[in-house]
Amino acid sequence: MSVATSAPPLPVTRTSSPRPRPSEDQLGFGKYFADHMLLVDYVAGDGWAQPRIVPYGPLALDPAASVLHYGQAMFEGLKAYRLADGQIALFRPDRNAHRMATGALRLSIPAIDETLFVQGIAQLVAADRDWVPSAPGTALYIRPTIIATEAFLGVRASQSYTFYVITGPVGAYYAGGLRPVRIWVERERVRAVKGGIGAAKAAANYVASLQVAEEARARGCDQVLWLDAIEHEYLEEVGTMNLCLVIDGMLITPPLGGSILPGITRDTVLTLARDWGMPVEERVISITELTAAHRAGTLQEVFGVGTAAVIQAVGTLTGADGDLVINGGQPGPIAQRLYDAITRLQYGLDPDPRGWRVII
Ligand SMILES: *Cc1c(COP(=O)(O)O)cnc(C)c1O
Repeated sequence: MSVATSAPPLPVTRTSSPRPRPSEDQLGFGKYFADHMLLVDYVAGDGWAQPRIVPYGPLALDPAASVLHYGQAMFEGLKAYRLADGQIALFRPDRNAHRMATGALRLSIPAIDETLFVQGIAQLVAADRDWVPSAPGTALYIRPTIIATEAFLGVRASQSYTFYVITGPVGAYYAGGLRPVRIWVERERVRAVKGGIGAAKAAANYVASLQVAEEARARGCDQVLWLDAIEHEYLEEVGTMNLCLVIDGMLITPPLGGSILPGITRDTVLTLARDWGMPVEERVISITELTAAHRAGTLQEVFGVGTAAVIQAVGTLTGADGDLVINGGQPGPIAQRLYDAITRLQYGLDPDPRGWRVII
């Protein structure tokens, strides 16, 4: 499937001072930005203006802009991959477009057109195609964002917005093999609550997580296991990833109930596992059940799934009542099989029967 060629070209103002590109072996995450960005303004009554591609640079914001006071902001995250044959592909970008449109409703933000979202990104990546790295495991990370820009302190939804997309090369998440992480089980504070905004990729959900994540790091943990906001008992997410477990051969993930972000990697994992004939359940699962399965020896794997790492194996869960070591602290076979299959699809090494790759 190809999108870039089928859409009318957007106006492009090219930078007159292209930046030096970092070496591909020290990219890290979120440190480097490509030369251009996509910008689209919205004003109530007029709707979305003509999208344009312009040099990467600061935005002018009024100090009264409502995003700075009431937090009307959301984002997306996806990647462009350099394929084995040199072409560039996005992976399921229609799902990011749809999720942003759906999340916007909950945040009283006007939905961006889903076709414009995908085609705008395709043209932006095409404009910066030399920024898509090619070393194994690297990619061009794409960060679509919407912010409320109206200069007005009354508490209501803003009447103006800016949708922009920035990109930047990111390094291989795993230098050599899946590295299992140590996870803090948080029993008091929560990331999101049913009825709240946990199902939207709202900036505010991230604010709610930072203090707990910092404390977890101070305790030698990499990330946080989030439990439900009411009983502090049911598993929700791990860090900024969706959670999967394997108990007695069954792949289990908590159901999307309003407080869990509907991850695209989660959907990819469930789709592939069902294709493979693996037993799969989307159901509520408590920390008590997890602990009991560990004690009984049936808890085989725990892993997080999300765009950044694809699959993140959990080696240890730790909390007030001690450590649970999962699968001897090693990545399990299902996590490994999913990681291999998804990355092979993303990098064009396997056939793509569902048309998930979108060639730019
Ligand atoms: C973005 C995100 C995910 C993962 O979604 P993907 O589409 O798979 O990248 C999971 N949980 C939270 C809280 C997120 O913000």
